Amino acid sequence: MKRALINVWIVLLIVGGCLLFQRNRPPNVMLVVLDAVRADALSSYGYERETTPFIDTLASKGLVYSRAYSPSSWTMPSHASIFTGQTPYEHGCHHVHAYLVDRHNTLAEALRDRGYVTAAFNANPVISKDNNLLQGFETIDEVWRTHDPSKLDYRGSEYTNEQVKAWIARTKEPWFVFINYMDAHNPYWPPVEYRNRYLRGDLGPIASLANINNMSVLSGKLKLAPGDYRQLRNLYDGSISYLDYIVSDLMSAVNKRTTLVIITSDHGEAFGEHGHFTHNSLLYRELLHVPLIFYGKNINEPMIDDGLVSIKDIYRAILEASPYNLSSGSPVMAFHYPSLTNRWINKHKSTGFSLIDGRMHYIAFQKELPEVYDDEGELINLCPSSISPLTVQKVINDQLRNIDAFVERDEDLKSDDSLQDEFRLAKLRTLGYSGGEVAPNISAHAEVHLNRGVAFARIGRFDLALKEMQKAQKIQPYNKRVNQVLLAIRNKVGK
Ligand SMILES: [Zn+2]
Repeated sequence: MKRALINVWIVLLIVGGCLLFQRNRPPNVMLVVLDAVRADALSSYGYERETTPFIDTLASKGLVYSRAYSPSSWTMPSHASIFTGQTPYEHGCHHVHAYLVDRHNTLAEALRDRGYVTAAFNANPVISKDNNLLQGFETIDEVWRTHDPSKLDYRGSEYTNEQVKAWIARTKEPWFVFINYMDAHNPYWPPVEYRNRYLRGDLGPIASLANINNMSVLSGKLKLAPGDYRQLRNLYDGSISYLDYIVSDLMSAVNKRTTLVIITSDHGEAFGEHGHFTHNSLLYRELLHVPLIFYGKNINEPMIDDGLVSIKDIYRAILEASPYNLSSGSPVMAFHYPSLTNRWINKHKSTGFSLIDGRMHYIAFQKELPEVYDDEGELINLCPSSISPLTVQKVINDQLRNIDAFVERDEDLKSDDSLQDEFRLAKLRTLGYSGGEVAPNISAHAEVHLNRGVAFARIGRFDLALKEMQKAQKIQPYNKRVNQVLLAIRNKVGK
């Protein structure tokens, strides 16, 4: 009897010890970026369509940031912000300087130094070893390189899940895994069941429009009717439903008692709200407002936080904060820097700055009248009728001065002359003092066909890709990029 009692005590001590050990050990961290998913496309963020029933259940048990914003409207600077905890103005990644310098202690490096095993499974070619964005990841699967796009699962998300599950099964804890899924990124072409979920009637000419990029719309070369935007949105919503399935499949491999899961996006997506389509251009709310959900270990009760947060603060949340209290009451900022190839389009050629403070959204593009909104859809510009442009400029300059102070304090940055030049240039552009003009190397017309060709190739339609690339080459026979893509597609189709 006595011996039995001792045995029970020993078992209780071991179980208790294990539980205590489990509670105190650092969580595994799974960071999931649903590329190009705007917040209001999720049913848990109020969308009338039930696009994301699975993610909604995570949200109902997790910590939901209802007002999370991206510091950029495109992938590269936005991921650099998540990985460094800095704005694009601070880390210096943008169209012209599309490279993350070594000086940063990235999230993956910091976690690796704390004993985490790190891995990245990434479907977006813009996040790559080539631009140094994947510093600190010990295992890297660039899904866009390794996955065969002619398979039904053309963005590779099902393949990604298989790889992630296998990696988790063989990896010692604690681990950190970053996953980027591209299914909601244009062109919107999910598996047929999801493609047809919200479509109304025949796709008709929209079939090719799904592959049109923002440039052709912004340049005025392509006019989209409201009905076209609705059909594109229907395809996009179907893509998001497919992503919801992908996330549910991924989560079957995750133990919520030992893992912190963060679900977010790098930027939103536009469907004609301000006359533009897709992303990577302007700085309206539909491009910046993204989902941000924390779920699993250390999230002890469901909560909705309505404070303003920037997704750059995911960095701080993972490394420093527990509980995850991200809203600081500070304004959130976003930046746009011009692209060399897109400068022919009005606002693409200028640098832009966005500041959301409370309900107010200030947007200033170089050589443009500033805009200020306090309405949800950002349709009524309060400037200059209620707010003077000078007031807007002052608000913006005050914020830039704060960032300057940060950059000044950064000793490593001071020693990096080339980067300092980038910062100086970026600042001058933001304040409207410098055009930074460089001759474009591709014509607008050829670029439309080049982008379509690449888009068709990505979904395995090499026949259509070849036609587009032949058109691009006819317009601009000696462009290096056009010829490279054409050659690659010719090799694929054997012509
Ligand atoms: Zn993106």
